Amino acid sequence: MSQMLIPNTVTEACQMLSSGNRVACAGATNLYVDREKGKYLDRDIVSLHRLKELSGIREEKDGWHIGSLTTFDLIEDVFRGQGSMDALAEAASLVGGPQIRNRGTIGGNILSASPAADTVPVLMALDAVLVLVSETGQRMVSINGFMKGPGRTAIHQGKILTEIVIPFKTGAARFRKVGKRNALAISIINVAVYMEKEAGRITALTIAIGSAGPTALRAFHTEELLRTWKRPDSEEKWQSLHEEIAIALSEDISPIDDIRATGSYRKTVADNVVLQLVRELWEACEK
Ligand SMILES: Cc1cc2nc3c(=O)[nH]c(=O)nc-3n(C[C@H](O)[C@H](O)[C@H](O)COP(=O)(O)OP(=O)(O)OC[C@H]3O[C@@H](n4cnc5c(N)ncnc54)[C@H](O)[C@@H]3O)c2cc1C
Repeated sequence: MSQMLIPNTVTEACQMLSSGNRVACAGATNLYVDREKGKYLDRDIVSLHRLKELSGIREEKDGWHIGSLTTFDLIEDVFRGQGSMDALAEAASLVGGPQIRNRGTIGGNILSASPAADTVPVLMALDAVLVLVSETGQRMVSINGFMKGPGRTAIHQGKILTEIVIPFKTGAARFRKVGKRNALAISIINVAVYMEKEAGRITALTIAIGSAGPTALRAFHTEELLRTWKRPDSEEKWQSLHEEIAIALSEDISPIDDIRATGSYRKTVADNVVLQLVRELWEACEK
């Protein structure tokens, strides 16, 4: 039978996780469901809940430092209205229901590696860096490239995610989630866009999309396309841009059919949402 281990320090947690068949536990919102489905039943659980230093948000020279055990509720409270970080607040506010947002953590959202995880596209669009700690030291890796497939990331046994660092940004960002209903819905598509702009032209742009492939991913072809455009000044030009986005996105994403939606529905929604967010940001930046 599996047992619960409760480390008092990060080093102790890493030691526990490096020896034997063990799994880390943060808010348990996913782990509990996984165990109900029969996964991890043979593993000891290493609960991180005593590691208070992994909770909370700090502003440092290189950007925002978000502890991996920070809950969605706190993320929404701290980042609402904070420039481009408002997109992360928006994503956090749309995860599950109040109970999930009160217990679920940003670290668990990343490490669950669901293609539909709501905070991940925002973290990708904002160039977040993950701090991974083991018994022997720490490593910083970009979230872009960290997600390897459904339920798989580049983290190794014996490592824990301690914090997420998001560099300060001067531009604006938006997040949008499309689900079957407004609350308690897993994303059919979720999109995050970050934009900087000067004199009608985009100078920096990142687009990340979830639920459109085995992991959330960056839409590099669409980013490239948009960098060549000047802000459309008529509805006809916005329509042309919509068509070009649809073509570029075909190179970036290949959503599949599942119980929530068909792949072609997801693609159409992604085309529309990317255009919508780009337009909102372009017009907001103009003012
Ligand atoms: C009813 C319901 C609705 C949901 N709705 C949504 C939704 O709308 N959007 C969404 O994105 N998600 C949703 N989820 C998924 C889930 O709540 C989130 O992914 C949550 O963020 C997981 O965080 P946690 O702290 O509970 O992680 P846990 O369940 O404790 O852990 C999840 C995984 O991450 C690993 N892990 C956690 N923290 C660390 C760490 N610091 N270092 C190393 N490994 C770690 C664990 O080993 C485990 O494999 C929902 C879940 C439920 C049950």
